[in-house]
Amino acid sequence: MEVKTELRGVTKKELSSLMVKWGEPAYRGAQIFNWIQVHCEDDLAEMHNLPKKLKEKLAQKTFIAPLQMNKDWIGEDGTRKFLLELFDGKKIESVFLKHPDHNTLCVSSQVGCSYKCKFCATGEMGFERNLLPGEIVGQVHSASKITGSSIRNVVFMGMGEPLDNLEAVLKSIELLGDPQGQNIGQRRITISTCGLVPEINKLAALELQCVLAISLHAPSDDLRSKLVPINRRYPLEELLKACRNYFTVSGRRISFEYALIEGVNDRPEQAQQLGALLRRFPAHINILPANPISGGNIKGSGEEKIKRFVGILEANGLPVSLRKSRGQEIEAACGQLSTLEEEGQG
Ligand code: SF4
Repeated sequence: MEVKTELRGVTKKELSSLMVKWGEPAYRGAQIFNWIQVHCEDDLAEMHNLPKKLKEKLAQKTFIAPLQMNKDWIGEDGTRKFLLELFDGKKIESVFLKHPDHNTLCVSSQVGCSYKCKFCATGEMGFERNLLPGEIVGQVHSASKITGSSIRNVVFMGMGEPLDNLEAVLKSIELLGDPQGQNIGQRRITISTCGLVPEINKLAALELQCVLAISLHAPSDDLRSKLVPINRRYPLEELLKACRNYFTVSGRRISFEYALIEGVNDRPEQAQQLGALLRRFPAHINILPANPISGGNIKGSGEEKIKRFVGILEANGLPVSLRKSRGQEIEAACGQLSTLEEEGQG
């Protein structure tokens, strides 16, 4: 059986080549690209400037991956969480974050995830499948349509480990960055990883300009291996070496995410250890309290402990930001995304 091409995941150049292959003028490719990537159109019938015959052929040989909006939760601070249903009935979530001067979308890269980080609800789902490039880009289109606003920044911090679906993630970055499409350049895209060292080195080799964010969460191999199990395969020394390699090529400081969990990774001596680990490293550290996940026994650290932890890092000369947890009441905050409940398994 012939496999249909998913059109939202195809670049303008590839679309033009496809048109030429079909005996159509190349500019038809640019027209289709414009409908899909600028007008976020996913219905061929609405593409008025395409000839009927071409639309019939497109319907026969291609498809545009649907992302049906099943639910839209709105949090007190304007954060929105979308539950999107894919063509095979699987579900993903993305999170829209409104800032005074721009909007950010947190996108998913996989249905579920196989990495089982201890504080993460997605990890509990297990891995189901990788998203197609068009399903990643489609999350930006859907959010933009439903909110009526443009998305300026994209962060790969939703469901899934983006570097485990590297090819599709890279393609989606290429598509989102097209100046004649959404025009979201690499410098406005953050890729967050639990620490897949070979893939970080691949990103460096590609000379990507995206921000690289590392889910660190522990200052020692012992503790990190418990919280982020991939650390057993790629311990801190190797991880930091790959991060330095990425910095050397991209010139972009590495962002380290550290979620403070009550009584686990929030002690003063652990802050000192983290300070020692990242001193003189081209890093920025984002501290946030861990978010509760349903069925889990994770508790975020209290205000006092957070302040003390941040103070120690600052005293060590590290650039630190205290991140506010957004959308916790709608389970849209870091580590809380999961569709188990919606699928009746939770
Ligand atoms: S934190 Fe990221 S890599 Fe870890 S289980 Fe969750 S989605 Fe997967």
